[in-house]
Amino acid sequence: MNHLTLFKEHHEKELYGRYVSLLQMEPILEKHKHKNIITVLGKSVLEKPIYSLQTGTGDFKLLLWSQMHGNESTTTKALFDLFNFLDSDSELVKQWKTKFTFLFVPMLNPDGAEKYTRENANQIDLNRDFLNLSQPESRLLLETFQSFKPDFCFNLHDQRTIFAAGTTRNPATVSFLAPSYNEACEVNTVRQKAMNLIGGLNERLQKYIPNQVGRFDDGFNRNCVGDTFQQLGVPTVLFEAGHFQNDYEREETRKFIFISLLDSFALLYENDIVSNKTADYLKIPQNNPCFYDIVYRNVKINYDNSFLITNFAVQFKEEIYNSAIEFNAYISSIGDLTHFHGHLEYDLQKELYEDNDDNFPKIDEKANFFVKNCGNFVNGLLKK
Ligand SMILES: [Zn+2]
Repeated sequence: MNHLTLFKEHHEKELYGRYVSLLQMEPILEKHKHKNIITVLGKSVLEKPIYSLQTGTGDFKLLLWSQMHGNESTTTKALFDLFNFLDSDSELVKQWKTKFTFLFVPMLNPDGAEKYTRENANQIDLNRDFLNLSQPESRLLLETFQSFKPDFCFNLHDQRTIFAAGTTRNPATVSFLAPSYNEACEVNTVRQKAMNLIGGLNERLQKYIPNQVGRFDDGFNRNCVGDTFQQLGVPTVLFEAGHFQNDYEREETRKFIFISLLDSFALLYENDIVSNKTADYLKIPQNNPCFYDIVYRNVKINYDNSFLITNFAVQFKEEIYNSAIEFNAYISSIGDLTHFHGHLEYDLQKELYEDNDDNFPKIDEKANFFVKNCGNFVNGLLKK
């Protein structure tokens, strides 16, 4: 199986960038209806359809859902790449479809997707709603879980650009978690299977993104869906699609998610999750929140008529404008940033900071400024 070739062949070109809503998704879903069972599982708060796509006839059942956080579209893109592959007549696909029944929910939160918010239309984080079950989308996912009775679950998300893979200077491009099922974060046979799968996935993913795989925090939270399903006895893995160098549209990361999904099915097909990979799982460095999008070092600031040399950092906010996502740079930290990295860094050589306001950087201010002998920075970036 050559992952990169498969990605090239099956990449869904109609989906691109960060904004993926029902409007983009529905026509693409339509073209899969001849080879798959497409169902409206239920409705969102604003009565939008929540679709599932089912394929395969095997006894081993896999449930995968994405975009339960509306602004986390990378794994949805990867699922559509996968749907193209699963519609092909590859021998591998035939084998998988004999062993597995796949049920995909490619957009659990269509209202959030449309508004590009994490939460649903009632401003509830669906991944903190599994004790309360106060929202139709969370109830629908639980009902689907109960009626489909999966043997393995995949909880697919995006994470922010702030995470490094451990103490490296690399972004955590993909992070995994085998969620805890109790406060003590113990390991039972259910969680062990999730850990074993992740151990195998990490090993394979290292070939493509060495030292850019992270492990998400495993603190138990019964409000989260993964912890709940794991507690209910079904191995569940969390995928977090993260930042790859210069890939704010997450078109590279999408590829690595596609690859990890293929590897997951290959490992499950070969029943490669019975060998204990706890050590391999724990070897994956933890997500370390030490990145800003841009860091500016050694800048001179005139503060109350005294000059000081300091550093500041910028974080992009993803803001929706005309159904497209703008990455707008805001100042988010000022001071000693020794232990932080920027995905982009500028050394300002102790030159003087100026802006159109009072000539020093302020938190939450847009990053438009001027640095003497360097130039003009617009939306955080130096304009030559
Ligand atoms: Zn999420």
